[in-house]
Amino acid sequence: MNTEHEIMTFEVNGLIYKIVIVEAFQGDNLLGLAEYPQKKITLKLEDIDVMIKTLKHELTHVWLEEFGHNQHETKSYNNEDICEIVACSNNFINENVAKFKKNFTEQENNYRG
Ligand SMILES: [Zn+2]
Repeated sequence: MNTEHEIMTFEVNGLIYKIVIVEAFQGDNLLGLAEYPQKKITLKLEDIDVMIKTLKHELTHVWLEEFGHNQHETKSYNNEDICEIVACSNNFINENVAKFKKNFTEQENNYRG
């Protein structure tokens, strides 16, 4: 993986995660990655709308992980589960997306050649 630029940190259930951007994932076509032991979300540098959609996805993974929701491949969620998860995680997602958008936009010229 190439150079990481830290955009922000955030708190989830008492843990501090960081969000970094990279120009590309080494040998991989990923847009984003959440790593729980490293407490880190990595985003590929893309158009801001793409990064925000990816960030929402990765923040949801982190929220599920840190509030004890099983994310094994065999796990399935029913409609009520999904509605409750969205209701409970919505503020967390929106607040952190807003902070990311502000921080990234202010520093954007440092990352784009
Ligand atoms: Zn995913």
